[in-house]
Amino acid sequence: MVSSRFLLTSRRITQFSFILLVVLMPVLNIFRYDTATHELIVFGKIWSLGLKAGFYADPSLSVSLHVALHFLLNAILPWIIILSIFPLAGFIGGRFFCGWFCPEGALFEWADYLTLKVAGRRSLYKRRPSDPETSGDNRIAFIVLAALSAVVIPLLAGVALTGYFVAPKTVWTQIAAWRFTFGVKAGIIGVAVYILIGSIFVRHVFCKFVCAPGLMQMLLGWISPLSLRIKMDTARIAECTDCRNCEKACFMNVLPRKNKRDISCVGCGACVAACHKELGEGKGLFRYQMGEAREKHRERNAADNTGLYDLRHNTPEP
Ligand code: SF4
Ligand code: SF4
Repeated sequence: MVSSRFLLTSRRITQFSFILLVVLMPVLNIFRYDTATHELIVFGKIWSLGLKAGFYADPSLSVSLHVALHFLLNAILPWIIILSIFPLAGFIGGRFFCGWFCPEGALFEWADYLTLKVAGRRSLYKRRPSDPETSGDNRIAFIVLAALSAVVIPLLAGVALTGYFVAPKTVWTQIAAWRFTFGVKAGIIGVAVYILIGSIFVRHVFCKFVCAPGLMQMLLGWISPLSLRIKMDTARIAECTDCRNCEKACFMNVLPRKNKRDISCVGCGACVAACHKELGEGKGLFRYQMGEAREKHRERNAADNTGLYDLRHNTPEP
């Protein structure tokens, strides 16, 4: 049985590791495009179509086949593979990537946390019934931390992401000399402004309505009969204390007790951990589950037998 601490800690580790990977990919030449040399670098090698020199001067069938084959293998196929990652991830894991790996999602959670500590609510705009309570202790310290985060994180993100288009060594040399080319300046400032606006004003609205990889996962996760989701054990619904900690833990404003497949759920497991904490480790009412067909049938029977399903959920499963 997965404990609440294990769930929370492992999610922070995967989020941090993925951020580290995004930062290190251009530095280690794992993946970057060099705008100075117009070269795509993949795992330390310059990615090319691998065409024979002077192929354009030879119109023979064998050379035409050579061009077609190399174009298919080295240009079309890699793109098909890259573009299929998120739909495939969605078909299997729903929005699991968003909750466990996405650097922007992690940043928005950090912004939620600081807003909660400073303003007593998650959102900048209004307090929601599902906002967690906070003591209001150390408010000044959190205001300073929020101000620092608003400056440092966007700038670091700007430097890291500019490295995908300008060699990271060049970027850091220019920072050290405090003399910037237009491209480096535009890259750092552009990304920093985007991150700043996104993390202050937009946050999870971006995840719900704008992010293309998120929408692909959402759609494929929704139609997939197998995808990973959070399920409530409705046979044990009478054990629910109505503490609402599961709702307060959900930064996507999902109501997990509705037990419906919600397209906003990113499978973060915060509600799973919250219920374990309330009812005792291993006794929480939520769990991860792949697919739902058999389970649905069992739950309907359980709900019919107890009569509690409709009592605790005013929107039962269709
Ligand atoms: S419903 Fe649970 S798993 Fe889904 S986003 Fe909310 S807290 Fe995370
Ligand atoms: S955390 Fe568990 S016990 Fe509390 S309201 Fe949610 S389902 Fe019920």
